[in-house]
Amino acid sequence: MTQPAPTRVVIAGGGTAGWIAAAAIQRQLGRLVQVTLVESEAIGTVGVGEATIPTARSFHELLRIDEAEFMRATGATFKLGIQFEDWGAVGDSYLHSFGTVPLKTWVAEFQHFWLEAQARGLAGPVGAYCLEHEAALAGKFAREGQAATNYAYHLDAGRYAAFLRRIAEAEGAVRTEGRIASVERDGQSGDVAALLLESGERVAGDLFIDCTGFRALLIEGELQAGFEDWSHWLPMDGAFAMQTRLTADPVPYTRAIAHEAGWQWRIPLQHRMGNGCVFSSRFMEADAARDLLQSSVEGEPLTEPRLVRFATGKRRRVWQNNVVALGLSSGFVEPLESTSIHLFMAGVTRLIQQFPFGPIGEAQRARYNRMADNEIDRVRDFVILHYKLNQREDSPLWRHVAAMDVPDTLAERITLFAEQAEAWQAADDLFRVESWAQVLLGQNCRPSSWHRLAGLVSDEKLRATLTGLRDNVAARVAAMPRHSEVIAAYCAAPKD
Ligand SMILES: Cc1cc2nc3c(=O)[nH]c(=O)nc-3n(C[C@H](O)[C@H](O)[C@H](O)COP(=O)(O)OP(=O)(O)OC[C@H]3O[C@@H](n4cnc5c(N)ncnc54)[C@H](O)[C@@H]3O)c2cc1C
Repeated sequence: MTQPAPTRVVIAGGGTAGWIAAAAIQRQLGRLVQVTLVESEAIGTVGVGEATIPTARSFHELLRIDEAEFMRATGATFKLGIQFEDWGAVGDSYLHSFGTVPLKTWVAEFQHFWLEAQARGLAGPVGAYCLEHEAALAGKFAREGQAATNYAYHLDAGRYAAFLRRIAEAEGAVRTEGRIASVERDGQSGDVAALLLESGERVAGDLFIDCTGFRALLIEGELQAGFEDWSHWLPMDGAFAMQTRLTADPVPYTRAIAHEAGWQWRIPLQHRMGNGCVFSSRFMEADAARDLLQSSVEGEPLTEPRLVRFATGKRRRVWQNNVVALGLSSGFVEPLESTSIHLFMAGVTRLIQQFPFGPIGEAQRARYNRMADNEIDRVRDFVILHYKLNQREDSPLWRHVAAMDVPDTLAERITLFAEQAEAWQAADDLFRVESWAQVLLGQNCRPSSWHRLAGLVSDEKLRATLTGLRDNVAARVAAMPRHSEVIAAYCAAPKD
């Protein structure tokens, strides 16, 4: 029996999104597909995007990536959450950890019991009951065993793309170097038929994946799928990024430090620190953002600050005709909760599950677009929450975002938490109840009431349960090795 010819998948762009797509599609679908990736060294990649969330681990498992090998190759460290400094009010600090707390029932989540205990003077700080929270702040870490944590990674973006490229090419994906000059369309269907490179080369395909970053060459430049602008909710539009030498052992969390017109990131890798200053050009000049970054980084600079401009919003349709957009070409919420890599890992997973081996139907596109849409909208709400619920009155940006209208879906969440401590994970929601509750509490949203079930628990029982939980967390953290020791033993990157 003759095999049908492999579907020709052409990926435009070789940043993290392009190489993730190439590695995943070629490895999962094998000889059912032939992947060709076109990228231009002269154009380069965005070069940032170094913090992930725990879903990266399951994605790597799907790809059969060996964790220690990946961490060695990318200089990766472990990440247990994000510490938000000066976000609610100047001087505040809270950690959004990836952990859960085992104290909950099907009726009421942890925050109800904690709020009740706090009202009775029986509760410690909310983070004290969460393993990942306490381990992060203590600089401890465990991958496995009794104290195994829920974690993600910090990684070097350039090395990650190279690592994924090796996987993709080993599976048979082909890389073509060159700048895409124009696009050839089918006269009847309007589908993309081929990419035409400046060199004169023609790269024909059946399915095209637009991973050209903010340029969105195919999905927007060619197909004009449309862009929904979110800058009225998410006003950040630029960032300076620079690398410095480490001054101490890397901590197992990202730092997000608010400043008068945005925030700064600190992402510790094994071999360097990634630093960035995100700003809104409506509220801060680029020169001032660069100066702020340079004056606040610790450690010897390894690179000059580099400016990346961006727009927040989403593509109205991420799948149009035979083009699917993944990565920055499909939209960008902003870097705050490090969700972009997750969104294209999820996008390529769905694409592989719904892979179009034959003609593409409208129902298929509509379903894929709906799923992508719902997912990014929930991430958008989660990120806006950090801005909306601030009590900083020190600068125009923070006053502006505190007063702005937010999407109805988010307004409902804030009201329900403020009124009755209700937090939930919606159907398409990436973030769990614990994440919503941690950020709402961290941004100083204090519920006026909570579930009365918690009120039925006696003082004695509530005290004993919370103390037991807290002691258990403290004992497990005390027994954990330091984060740097785990890295040294498990996945130390070769020294440059
Ligand atoms: C400031 C900032 C911080 C971020 N931080 C995080 C984070 O912590 N965590 C996270 O998950 N995400 C983060 N992101 C997002 C993350 O950087 C991206 O999602 C990720 O790098 C993927 O980018 P990409 O591959 O879509 O685009 P790019 O890296 O821009 O790649 C585009 C590719 O297309 C190619 N290309 C473009 N035009 C042409 C052409 N004409 N011909 C040939 N090739 C072409 C380029 O050469 C390149 O290979 C951040 C983004 C920004 C802006």
